[in-house]
Amino acid sequence: MMGTQKAVFPFGQPWITAEDRQVVLEVLQSPLLTQGPQVRAFEEEFARFLGGECFCVAVSSCMAALHLAYLQLGLGPGDEVLLPAQTHVATAHAVELVGAKPVFVDCDPHTGNINPDLLPALITPRTRALSVVHFLGIPCDMEEILTLAQSFGLWVVEDCALAPGARLRGKPVGLWGDVGCFSFYPVKHLTTGEGGMLVTRHAEVAEAVARLRAFGLERSTARPGLYDVVALGLNYRMSEMQAALGRGQLRRLGENLERRQANFARLRENLADLEGIRILDVKDEKEASSHYCLSVVLEGGLRERRSQILAQLQREGVGTSIYYPHPVPRLTYYRSKYGFSPQTYPQALAISDGSIALPVGPHLTPSDMDSIAQSFRRALRGRS
Ligand SMILES: *Cc1c(COP(=O)(O)O)cnc(C)c1O
Repeated sequence: MMGTQKAVFPFGQPWITAEDRQVVLEVLQSPLLTQGPQVRAFEEEFARFLGGECFCVAVSSCMAALHLAYLQLGLGPGDEVLLPAQTHVATAHAVELVGAKPVFVDCDPHTGNINPDLLPALITPRTRALSVVHFLGIPCDMEEILTLAQSFGLWVVEDCALAPGARLRGKPVGLWGDVGCFSFYPVKHLTTGEGGMLVTRHAEVAEAVARLRAFGLERSTARPGLYDVVALGLNYRMSEMQAALGRGQLRRLGENLERRQANFARLRENLADLEGIRILDVKDEKEASSHYCLSVVLEGGLRERRSQILAQLQREGVGTSIYYPHPVPRLTYYRSKYGFSPQTYPQALAISDGSIALPVGPHLTPSDMDSIAQSFRRALRGRS
């Protein structure tokens, strides 16, 4: 956020209760600070939250989960992974880190999700995997994606960083593909300070990832302290304090999602009659978004006025953000490595250069949404 003025309606705010603080302090008095009962319980409870038919591995971040996913799937130099241009850089960095090549795909203008129609033309004999991001919590059309992935024999990695609780045809995101990755960074739906969860329907993937997150080490069941190392690994573990915090956060996720939904609906209704804007949202009301924020895409002449509109919102105390300020291929690292042609990503650019993300988090109420809408309307008119 710009300036030093404190927002009346912050864009995001971690929801930490007295009970959350208490459980973390209790862990600090226990004998185990890592690899203990809290992490195991958090993994089990997260699997139950997703309906039970999966395995969960708690890790140090969503980026760590994505990296482990590609390591475990055995991707490396010479391989290509299709992924959306409009996403957090972590989605692409994880592919780069294993030496594979990210192939960026433009998005759907209504949802911000990867556009499946563009995929067939980008698939080559080197394509091994397809990564989707449920943009701002809006579920991707996984039926279409899976049909395509199956016919080309591709792994599917779901980046669910902003999508805990999002569902498609009633089935949670993260369980459609081979691996799903969640984030517990402070401004996401749940937080453990830093943290992530890898979920998978495949027991062998979960076992391998659990080893890779802890040096590739296999403990002897016969004698404490004895172990062997069976693979090259990392240290991407989550601590007991983080897991204890995550468990409390998870218990409130239902209420968190309900508040977000109510706020989103109220704000959308408040902005419905405005011309020259569109709101990124599900195409079919039956599908469940996790409502990370409400992103407004400015069209036509309004697009040039974005920085003015953002500045006025800030003056009125409305916290805003931009998801995401650059399509990943335009970021310096990627642009200098692979080149960047704007005409390939018109929709991703419309979002990066013309959108404003408004807050709908559980720290705000439906009547706050009325105030935010009023500020937004004033800012669009260019008057205070
Ligand atoms: C935040 C985010 C990430 C990275 O999450 P970390 O837990 O901070 O590593 C990855 N993908 C998306 C879509 C995100 O929004």
